[in-house]
Amino acid sequence: MLQLSSAQAAVQVARLRDVRGDLAHAYGVALTRWMLDRTLMALGLPLVTQGYRPAAEQAALYAQGRQPLAMLNRLRKLAGLPVFPAGSAEAGRKVTWVTVSRHMELPSGALDVGMLQADGSVSWPVDALQKFSRLILAADWRIRWGGDWDGDGRSDDEKSLDMPHFEVPR
Ligand SMILES: [Zn+2]
Repeated sequence: MLQLSSAQAAVQVARLRDVRGDLAHAYGVALTRWMLDRTLMALGLPLVTQGYRPAAEQAALYAQGRQPLAMLNRLRKLAGLPVFPAGSAEAGRKVTWVTVSRHMELPSGALDVGMLQADGSVSWPVDALQKFSRLILAADWRIRWGGDWDGDGRSDDEKSLDMPHFEVPR
């Protein structure tokens, strides 16, 4: 049975504490329903990979794939993030498309969800995130999923996709 270690569980509690109450509540409802369903649990155990993200961290993430390594690493140091080694492929990969994010609000108006796998890794399988989105939207219909921003039930008509991302209206 897939479950969090006590250290992992403490991280989840801390992350959810910095997320807006209505979003954290809907997440909790969706998570409980997920955990009661063996078929869904076979896809992984949902966890919050990010809630609140300080502005300095967003700036460092935005620089990824856009700025030379020296500049990128300077921003990462400022944000308290580990620097990328020379030649790092990750340093050249764009991971965000915005300079201002709902994650920067405190409490955060957004959270990102990943799936803990049986081997201890965390991944972001699209089918699992899609199924999780149905549960969290059933818990609170106002939530927007980054895999279907316009809420029409399709992902193939979106300009940018952010499958792990869920946010509540301001
Ligand atoms: Zn996000």
